[in-house]
Order: sequence, then C-alpha cells, then structure tokens
Amino acid sequence: MLFTPQNEDGSGRLEMDITVISGDPFARGLGFRGVVQDKKTGNRYKVYGASCGLPRCQCDARIKAIMGT
Ligand SMILES: [Zn+2]
Repeated sequence: MLFTPQNEDGSGRLEMDITVISGDPFARGLGFRGVVQDKKTGNRYKVYGASCGLPRCQCDARIKAIMGT
C-alpha cells in the first residue's frame, strides 16, 4: 500500500510501501492515527494527522519512528 507522509521534522515527504499494523493511517484529522510498517526496511512508524497547508485542513500525515523495532 503506497503511503506518502511528511517526514518526522516536516521538511520533506517520504514514499513507502506499507503494511498497516493498527488504526487507519489514511484517516483525516489531527491526532494519533495508527501504526504502519515500511515493507522495505521493516521499520515501524506512528502516524499522526498533519496540516496539508490549506486553512483548517488536517488531511496530511506525518510519521514518527518507533525505536527498537
Ligand atoms: Zn488537506
């Protein structure tokens, strides 16, 4: 499943093929959405809602690496 979230510091965008571990990373709105795993590296990430740049729209996603997985 193609997933193109903002990277951890919001400076760019990643493109990864993911497996959804929990939740719905494609949901809209702020807050924690779930956990995904990058198929290529095996790394897991928490997914949070993020602004896409439009006023009051939080349809974008940002990831945060989960250490030790
Ligand atoms: Zn948006």
